[in-house]
Order: sequence, then C-alpha cells, then structure tokens
Amino acid sequence: MKLVLATGNKGKLREFKQMCKDEVVPFSDILGAFEIVEDGDTFAANALIKARTIYEKLGEKNPSMDYLVIADDSGISLPLLGGAPSIYSARYAGEGATDKDNLYKLVESIKDKGVTMTPAYYTAAIAIVSKYGEYVVHGWMHGDVIDEPRGEKGFGYDPMFIPSGYDLTLAELEDEVKSKISHRGQALELAKPIIKMLQNK
Ligand code: IMP
Repeated sequence: MKLVLATGNKGKLREFKQMCKDEVVPFSDILGAFEIVEDGDTFAANALIKARTIYEKLGEKNPSMDYLVIADDSGISLPLLGGAPSIYSARYAGEGATDKDNLYKLVESIKDKGVTMTPAYYTAAIAIVSKYGEYVVHGWMHGDVIDEPRGEKGFGYDPMFIPSGYDLTLAELEDEVKSKISHRGQALELAKPIIKMLQNK
C-alpha cells in the first residue's frame, strides 16, 4: 500500500517525512501539482476534501494500485481575534499570500489590539482515506503569540509562536522538539495506529 501525502506545503511535507518511519510521497510526485478548493467550514472537512480529491485522482490514474492518502488541514487561532484566522490561516493576508505575508498580517492584527503577547493555539486535522474507509484525527498545541517574530526554523506562524512551557519561539526550537509537541505531531501519533492497521489488512 503506497502512502501519499495530500499537501503541496513544503513545511508540512518536511515535518511529515521527519515524523513518519514509512516512506510518504507528496501527491505532486505522481499527479503533478494542482490546487484543491478547500471550501469546508472545519479543519476536519477540509482535510477530508483534500484526501478524497487525491484518492480519487490516484485511482483514476492507476486503478490497480492500492493507495492510502493522508491529508493535513491546520491553522492558528487567537481568542483575542474571536478565533481567527483558524481555517483561513493559509490565506489570512489574502488569496495567494505567502507565509511571510500572513505572519506579518497577524503581527499587525495583535498590535492593532494594543498587545505585545496573547494566547493562541494551533489545530491540525489529519484525514486518512483508503479503500477501507475514511478516518479523521485531531491534535492541538497551546501557547502565546508575540508581536516581534524570532527564528528561522519551522514555517508559517512559527516565528511568532511560543509553546506553553517554553521561552523560545517554534522557529528557534529544534525540529525534533516541535515534532514532539506540535499539533501535527499529536495528530500523527493518533493517526499512526490507524495507518498501521490499514496497512496490515
Ligand atoms: P492548510 O495547508 O490549508 O492546512 O494551511 C495551513 C496554514 O496554517 C499554513 O499555511 C500556515 O500558515 C498555518 N500553519 C499550520 N501549521 C503550522 C505550523 O506548524 N507552523 C506554522 N504555521 C502553521
């Protein structure tokens, strides 16, 4: 059974490759790159949209091949902003926005509220789609965001996010530390036994 990751996000791909012992390939290696319209209203709905889309397209291309598709939909939420940007994290600064655009838009948003630091949390929904059915699991990471981004590691909002119990931002912490405590790492720990069970069927 071939494990395919339904993401074009380089940061997510790097983290999945680091966290998975199994060989995972990005869908674009098999199908080429294309945009998937994520019009669900929850992380779970969007993760399922991505996984189902890729699973169907892989089946059309190679009907005899057995695929297990893994998709991640994730984002950051700030109670100060009524939970935003949440499922809109990837396009907080507008369609086609880069990670840096989104990061600085969030920095400006908290500055506009007159704070330098405020609680935030990341959510990740991981969807698994195979011929045996569909599964979704979640993971969360709580902490604070700051108005002065620091560090070069990670991706997205990591330079402004300090996990609870740490003094450094996720972009200053080693990748292995982030993997252990992150929303994606937590969700993947729940996904792993499901993936193993499906592989052994
Ligand atoms: P998605 O690809 O539609 O799930 O968008 C996820 C977006 O949420 C990314 O583009 C980032 O802006 C943000 N995000 C999700 N996970 C992380 C993370 O681990 N670090 C930093 N930003 C993240």
